[in-house]
This record gives sequence, C-alpha cells and structure tokens, in this order.
Amino acid sequence: MVGSESKLQFESSEMYRNAVEQLGGVAKRINLDAGIHERLRFPRRALVVSVPTLMDDGRTEVFVGYRVHHNTVLGPTKGGIRYHPEVSLGEVTALAMLMSWKCALMGLPYGGAKGGVACTPGAMSPRELERMTRRYTAEVMLLIGPDLDIPAPDLGTNEQTMAWIMDTYAMTQGRTVPGVVTGKPLLVGGSAGRRDATGRGLVYALGQAARDLGLDLKGARVVVQGFGNVGSVAARLLWREGCLVVGVSDARGGIGNPQGIDIRELTNFMKQSGTVVGFPGAEPISNAALLELPCDILVPAAIGGQITVHNADRIKARIVAEGANGPTTPEADDILAERGVLVIPDILANAGGVVVSYFEWVQGLQYYFWRESEINTRLQELIIRAYNQVTAVSKRESVNLRMAALTLAVRRVAEGFQLRGFYP
Ligand code: NAD
Repeated sequence: MVGSESKLQFESSEMYRNAVEQLGGVAKRINLDAGIHERLRFPRRALVVSVPTLMDDGRTEVFVGYRVHHNTVLGPTKGGIRYHPEVSLGEVTALAMLMSWKCALMGLPYGGAKGGVACTPGAMSPRELERMTRRYTAEVMLLIGPDLDIPAPDLGTNEQTMAWIMDTYAMTQGRTVPGVVTGKPLLVGGSAGRRDATGRGLVYALGQAARDLGLDLKGARVVVQGFGNVGSVAARLLWREGCLVVGVSDARGGIGNPQGIDIRELTNFMKQSGTVVGFPGAEPISNAALLELPCDILVPAAIGGQITVHNADRIKARIVAEGANGPTTPEADDILAERGVLVIPDILANAGGVVVSYFEWVQGLQYYFWRESEINTRLQELIIRAYNQVTAVSKRESVNLRMAALTLAVRRVAEGFQLRGFYP
C-alpha cells in the first residue's frame, strides 16, 4: 500500500521510518507473507490524548499523551511509558513495534505497546507530575488493563509514576488491581529485582558476548551513556564484576577517568547533586566525546539515535550493548558490522526489564511473591536462552545479532498470525 504511512502521519518520525525499514529488511530475508508484513507495519490501535494539568502556579497546561498497541497476536500488550519533551506519535509507535519484537524474542505471552507524554519531567514538581500522570491514566484508561495492556516505566518515569497509575486505575474499579502496571514499588505489589532488572539482564547478555569474544570482564574498560535506571545499574554491576568504568554521562554532560571511576562513590555523589557532572574522581567530557572514548564495551543507555553515520567509524569499543532502545541508526549499524564491532541489539540487551515485568505481572495476578534470588535466576535463564537462540540463528543464517534477533521475533509473530487465522 504505497504511501499508506502518510495516512497515519507517522512519516515525520525518523524512528518510525527506521523501524519500518528494519521490518522491511527482515520481511525480505524471511520471505514474510505480504499481508502479515503490511499489518505489522502499522499499529493495531493508537490513541492521542490531551492531558490538561493544573500547574502549581494555578495555570492549566495541556500536554499531549499517547498510548499505542502495535500487535496483540501473542497476548495482551506490554510496554513502557515515557516522559520526554520529544515524545511523538511516531516515536511511540516505533517503540511499540520494538516491544512486539522484544516480547516475542523473549518468549513472553505479550504483544508490544508504548506510551508517553511530551513533557519535561525534570522541570515539573512532584505534585504536577502526579496530577499529569493521573489525568493521562484516566485518558488512556480505554486501552489499559491487566489482561489488555500493562504499562511499565521508561525514560523519565519510575516506580512512583507506576504507583500513581495503579492507584488511579484502582479508584475507577473500586479495588486494587496490581496487574495493571509493572515496575511498581515493592510495598504495593512490585517485584523483587525489578528495579535492577534491565541493567542486570544487560550484564548477563554481555557476559555471554564477552565469553564468545574471549574478553575477560575483569579489567575490561567500559563506557556508559546515561546514568538512570538502566545505565547506573549496568555500571554498578559491571564495576562489581571488576570492569574499569572509564566514562559515564547523563543529560547534563559526561565524566571520564582512564584509571576507572569508583561507581559507589559516584552513586553517592549523584544522590546529593542529581547529576554525574562535577564528580571529583573524574574529568569532564562532552557526551559526544564520551561515545568515542577508548574502551572494550560501550553501553548506550540514554536515548535513541546516538550512534550514527557521524560517529560510528570512531567508536572504539569491541562490544556495544544497547541498554537504550534504538541507540544505533541503521546506517551506523552497517558501519559497526563492517568494522567487526559486536552489537548486542536492544531487543536482547535491554529485555531484562520486560522479563521481570512479566514475573511481576504473574506474581500480581496470583498474589504470590518470589524471592529476589529466584527472580534473578529465572531472568538469567531467559536472557541466556534468548542469547543462545540468537547466536545460533546468526551463525546458521550468516547475519549479525540484530538481524538474527529480529528474524526470530518476526517469525514467531508471523506464526502467531497464521495459527490464529484472519478475522473476520
Ligand atoms: P532514566 O530516565 O532512568 O535515565 C535516563 C538517563 O539518560 C538519565 O541519566 C538521563 O540524564 C540520561 N540522558 C537523557 N538524555 C541524554 C542525552 N542526550 N545524553 C546523555 N544522557 C542522557 O531512563 P531509563 O529507564 O534508564 O531508560 C534509558 C533507556 O533505556 C531508554 O532508551 C529506555 O527506553 C531504555 N529502556 C529502559 C528500560 C527500563 O526498564 N527502565 C527497559 C528497556 C529499555
């Protein structure tokens, strides 16, 4: 259907175009049925909402929010909610598609979804954030529910955001519904291990990749872009493994130290100052220069589109483990592949979050909670299983890890379509 993207006005989003191009590449390789391909290019449903919010100074500000279900063939949908000024329908749709692939790859009974509000959370007070979150939840209530669509945290949102969403939903039902969101605080139905899950999963995948390349993690030099939920946990766990964390950054800037940064001290510093910038144990460095620092492992764990044609040939790492969603553009991916850099793709490297979200959802539905050691063991099993499946396809079909992961995922979703048949 030529030009059909423009009907839905997604085309202005580069991220959406990249996601569609990526799907097109897989479809061609695996000879995907044209009808299924066409259906997978578009979200199943997309809701755009106004989120009028009473600000502390008495003004009303109207934010724009989104919730998109990409595909429901394998089960209810799952995906995070993002608060960031650049959130758009195209970005959320692309990320929802990525979630479909991630859930299918990990063998979870979910389709992909994503949501978000275009706002600057750092510039809002906790009361403003709460009011905006509750109104956003009320507006997307049509699309969420424990067996319909289960949100989770993403960029700019956290456990507190999830608690507000659950509470808002609960108020409309007259009862607590723990299964409506994951990534909740432990006391109100969260799962042990969820907070660290994405960073921990990334470290499990990285362990496998390092072993394949014969790289000893002890003493390996690591650079982490983004020091939030994903980046700070990855940095801490890798530092504990004996890696030298030689560079770290956040939205305000970066810091570097070739001798290694003490991550425990940095975490304490960060608690006081709210940023890594100004940490006395390292030198300041720009975010752009940080990505090009000499290192063995680069973990982009901030936002999308960070490794591009403009810097891919200067990336020095042997392994890029994608903590963020979509940090490498397709052109940069080709450059890294030509240069022999092993890229652990986002849908594998950062899947730990959705895996433990799935565990949290299951626990919430049963009101039966597991120990953290059980969670971590099960998480490790699923990440290693997926990693091995991906490397097997990569070897058998002579493709890089990203193409192998997408191939597995898209094949599973396509098989789901075939098994369920065509409605009506
Ligand atoms: P977060 O909000 O907790 O942290 C984001 C970090 O990135 C912060 O340190 C922020 O300052 C930094 N940052 C923002 N813009 C930046 C820029 N331009 N340059 C450098 N740093 C910048 O978010 P998070 O939950 O850690 O998510 C980070 C990435 O990981 C996102 O792409 C998200 O989609 C992805 N992800 C998160 C999870 C999860 O469980 N939280 C799961 C899978 C994928």
